[in-house]
Amino acid sequence: MSATVYYADLHVKDATDNRLAKISRLCQAVGLAALVQPKKRGGADELVAVKAHFGERGNDTYLHPTFARQVIDLIKEAGGKPFLTDTCTLYNGMRHNAVDHLETAYLHGFTPYVVNAPVVIADGIIGMSEELVPVDLKHFKEVHIARAFREASAMVVLSHFKGHQMGGFGGAIKNLAMGCASYAGKIDQHGRNVVIYEEACIGCGLCLDSCRQEAISLKKVEEGKTKGKAKGKKKAKISKKKCIGCYECMTVCKQKAIGVEQPDEHSAFVERMTEYAYGAVQGKEGRVCYLNFVLNVTPQCDCAGWSDPALVPDLGILASVDPVALDTACFDLVKAAPGLVPLPGCGDHCAGVDKFAGLRPETRGFHQMEYAQSIGMGSMAYKLKKV
Ligand code: SF4
Ligand code: SF4
Repeated sequence: MSATVYYADLHVKDATDNRLAKISRLCQAVGLAALVQPKKRGGADELVAVKAHFGERGNDTYLHPTFARQVIDLIKEAGGKPFLTDTCTLYNGMRHNAVDHLETAYLHGFTPYVVNAPVVIADGIIGMSEELVPVDLKHFKEVHIARAFREASAMVVLSHFKGHQMGGFGGAIKNLAMGCASYAGKIDQHGRNVVIYEEACIGCGLCLDSCRQEAISLKKVEEGKTKGKAKGKKKAKISKKKCIGCYECMTVCKQKAIGVEQPDEHSAFVERMTEYAYGAVQGKEGRVCYLNFVLNVTPQCDCAGWSDPALVPDLGILASVDPVALDTACFDLVKAAPGLVPLPGCGDHCAGVDKFAGLRPETRGFHQMEYAQSIGMGSMAYKLKKV
């Protein structure tokens, strides 16, 4: 059965049709009010988690805080009690613990004053506050979900649709998966199998600064260990002991000299992620809705401390109660759109071509939706309804 995906394009008739007005129309179309209203008598502790991503320091293409404010105001109007939230990162950046994360959120405009709700880090002060949720799927029997998501009664998931180093791209499924997992849950999903391809490494050292675990060093190639030309040159080495598999180093290496060990790791990665997304919404049937923003479709996710130019023009805002249909619709829009930058796998201005696969042919982004559908998270078939 196909799901309905509501779509607002970005054309504006007048001031009453700005992006905030479009968000309101989408929330109304998707039935947000009924989803977030308290269901129990009294309902004082029935909280609504509004999942966002506050952006790493230096990134400037995370979602605008006023978008979150608009959704939060609508939740309050409907009688819900919202809080804005995200989880700590695996890597040692400026969102690694709740203190740094909140400071980054405030710096980026996500203050209670702007968003009109408390800002809460969902997995506690150091990413350890979690609940084990049984899923009994191919990769995991149970998943580690941040406690605040478990304790909320309803959820509204706000996702920036953009590229991702390992997942190909990230939308609602990825936001649920990595974004609702505790520290242990993020380790589960990543897998520690990052390797340096010695022949491709030019010893530039860029990756050293990107690794907040200090797991990378430059070492001279020893006699007899590699082909003649490389002897004596410096090459990057990863310490298996220190590496937490966060993939940050892969985002900076211009030589494509960093990859993952197993040949099918990209499919396995998106499957692990999708199982976490499945776990994140268990127990909230009929009480979750999703908005995806196909704006600033950057090659990297918002965990990068920079923002590259977008792959396609801004395309719109979409909403659904089905995250699989929603991500499929966003993927199709990006695929159909003319490209803004030449990509190695699909040349110039590649309308009708999967830009994410063109950018990173080794990734298996589309498999997120295939696998999500196979485990019953939703439907890849959708009807697009303009609002
Ligand atoms: S792995 Fe890449 S970034 Fe690191 S030193 Fe080698 S070429 Fe430079
Ligand atoms: S994946 Fe790369 S950046 Fe992350 S911990 Fe391992 S070596 Fe460091």
